[in-house]
Amino acid sequence: MKIFCVGRNYGEHAAELKNPIPKEPVIFMKPGSAIANNSQPLRIPGFTNDLQHEIEVVLKVSKRGKNIPAEEAKDYFLEWTVGIDFTARDLQTKLKEKGLPWELAKSFDGAAVVGNFIPIGDKKLAVDFQLEKNGAMVQAGNTKDMLFSFDVLVSFLSTYFMLEAGDLIFTGTPAGVAKVNPGDRLSGFLDGMQLFDVSMAKVNND
Ligand code: ZN
Repeated sequence: MKIFCVGRNYGEHAAELKNPIPKEPVIFMKPGSAIANNSQPLRIPGFTNDLQHEIEVVLKVSKRGKNIPAEEAKDYFLEWTVGIDFTARDLQTKLKEKGLPWELAKSFDGAAVVGNFIPIGDKKLAVDFQLEKNGAMVQAGNTKDMLFSFDVLVSFLSTYFMLEAGDLIFTGTPAGVAKVNPGDRLSGFLDGMQLFDVSMAKVNND
């Protein structure tokens, strides 16, 4: 199982991190071992002082495919949810300055919260999603604002990687990324439905 992630897919978020608007999708990956256990408090790793939340719509690949034309891409994802692409921003900033890969900052154990999947139905173009922190809304987006659509992302990824049933695609975060602290509670919503509800451990003990 592979986890693909898309960086800078919402213009306002690219701007808040002072990144240029990309001409083609920015792709990185997380291993399956990055998926967090949502039923337990999540630890903030000891190697970061700035763990940030990125709420994202997550697609589940429904069948195997390679070199998928964008016009056929919708047949390859039938379920979606929201998740968090946890990012050790201080570490990522250092890696970016050196021109190095981002994995240490984004692919560590627990770096991917994945909510409960629901069928997409016919709402593939425009859906609202939000992250609440301790009951207050901190990030909100609508997938119509993506720079690269789901179909384009699936087609692009399949040019380089064999897509397989069960692979996940984190499709980018809207503006509003911020630090999480011990004891924070994070809840993710897609189309008004709460699909995850996780708590950060009260003490950093990693
Ligand atoms: Zn992200």
